Amino acid sequence: MPENQILDELVYEPISGSLLYKDVRYLLIRPETLAGFQKNLVERCGQEGSAALFEGGYAGGSLSARKYQKIHNFCDQEIVKFMMNMGNQIGWGNFRLVSYDAALNHLCVAVHDSPFAQAYGPSSQGVCHLIRGVLAGMAEVLFDRTCNAAEVQCRAMGDEACRFEIEAGKDKAGSGKLKAQSSKLKGESSKLKARSLKLKAQSSKLKGESSKLKAQS
Ligand SMILES: [Zn+2]
Repeated sequence: MPENQILDELVYEPISGSLLYKDVRYLLIRPETLAGFQKNLVERCGQEGSAALFEGGYAGGSLSARKYQKIHNFCDQEIVKFMMNMGNQIGWGNFRLVSYDAALNHLCVAVHDSPFAQAYGPSSQGVCHLIRGVLAGMAEVLFDRTCNAAEVQCRAMGDEACRFEIEAGKDKAGSGKLKAQSSKLKGESSKLKARSLKLKAQSSKLKGESSKLKAQS
């Protein structure tokens, strides 16, 4: 059997039904489960659905890159190599780094035999949004900028392999999250204002009724 460091170090805890690698929980899931979920999501939400899958991958990719960089004390080149190997060893396909340009904040990665493309079947667009997200999340740790990734070739589109171009945006890492939090807070604030207006209206209605009752007595 070929060596698989991740599988060798995976810890199985029967009581909780957990699989852990370096204390991080992982789960095995059939690609068809994800493909079914993805088709339904994209049917209901269109591009927003693809973006949601990308964001999910992004969160996992940046968490993993950050954690494994810290515990192994990896330099940037080493973390890229580690993440490529890890993707391979957890069954996400055969990852190959095509190019890495630290000066331009740019990465290109090819993935052969993506399970996501295989389970999804033919498509006119790239379907490996989770890989796209994980790679962009990993790049955020390298470039300290919010990153984006495009799947320029996909096995589901009939290409030989999936190919991802990843680049850093202008925003500092984590600013996307802050923006989302800020707009959530704004939303909550206007909700509270609306509630306050409603309460004021109810209060003046009660005052009116109260003075009416006083007049009657
Ligand atoms: Zn693909």
